[in-house]
Amino acid sequence: MSSVRAPLHQACVESGNLCSVCAYKINSNIIASWEVDVIKALYEISKNVKLNHRYESSAIAGSTLYVALEGPPVEELERELARRVKMRGVERVRVIYYRGGLEKLLEAILGQRVLAINRVYSSDGSSTLIVKVERRDPGAARLASLLLKTQVEVEAIEPRKPRVEGAKMRKHDIKRVLEKI
Ligand SMILES: [Zn+2]
Repeated sequence: MSSVRAPLHQACVESGNLCSVCAYKINSNIIASWEVDVIKALYEISKNVKLNHRYESSAIAGSTLYVALEGPPVEELERELARRVKMRGVERVRVIYYRGGLEKLLEAILGQRVLAINRVYSSDGSSTLIVKVERRDPGAARLASLLLKTQVEVEAIEPRKPRVEGAKMRKHDIKRVLEKI
């Protein structure tokens, strides 16, 4: 069976009459009002295309609409979404597929392995996700912030300095040479 699990009821987005639960999510900005169109399009597409996905969130960065979905990649879904979701300034749709959990979602967004995730709370109650990766990528950090609806900072772990290791090795060699003498 084809299905999309999304935070807004199918009947609500299809009729345009949101129940109090759906309306609350939009009024409190848990879901942006423009995301209704994306969720509606996914429900529509699921009638023709086999989907078994959970909708995570969407973000608009530049002229691209990014949609994060938990589930396996689906051919033609980006094209179907682009055909149905018409938003001013949006020229293309990219679907970010991932399987399970925050770490996998971040890896799919950042396009690299996540080494550690820490959540840091500020005194005003807001929080920042500090994500440790191998390569710095400020652009991807911004996209992650938009999709996760929370501040995300991406920090690169300092690469090992080969020079130090080389120096150690040489020292070691010299010691060995001295021992031989
Ligand atoms: Zn509803």
